[in-house]
Amino acid sequence: MPKFGQRSRANLATCHEDLRVLFNEIVRWWDCSVLCGARSQEEQDAAFYSGRSKVKFPNSKHNVGPGAPREISSAVDVMPYPIDWHDRERIIQFAGFVRGVATVLLDEGTISHRITWGGDWDSDGSTRDHSFFDGPHYQLEEVDDD
Ligand SMILES: [Zn+2]
Repeated sequence: MPKFGQRSRANLATCHEDLRVLFNEIVRWWDCSVLCGARSQEEQDAAFYSGRSKVKFPNSKHNVGPGAPREISSAVDVMPYPIDWHDRERIIQFAGFVRGVATVLLDEGTISHRITWGGDWDSDGSTRDHSFFDGPHYQLEEVDDD
């Protein structure tokens, strides 16, 4: 049974409990690496200027700490292992598996948020109707508290 390595565990520890529960379940079935959880302002700036993120601090759900609206990351970047950025079909297949497991966990009440994937921001099943394909990115869906 696959397990997260030390770096993946440390990255995942910076994320919301629902993301931790979800990916600790995922890794039992499909080996994967947690590339990024929380990002400080400095880390978000680096992600923005390198093109890995489309938004500036504090507008990413990865952003935490001083000046950010949250203390724990509402987003996580995870890639199926071994990592191959050119194998888009595999990234999409992995995302389908993640969404399936997330749906079951939500239905069971094990997690409390829907999960949005960065390859299909509006969750309509199409990966082609978005200008920014962010294959490794998963985030908690916005919920209105009121
Ligand atoms: Zn991300």
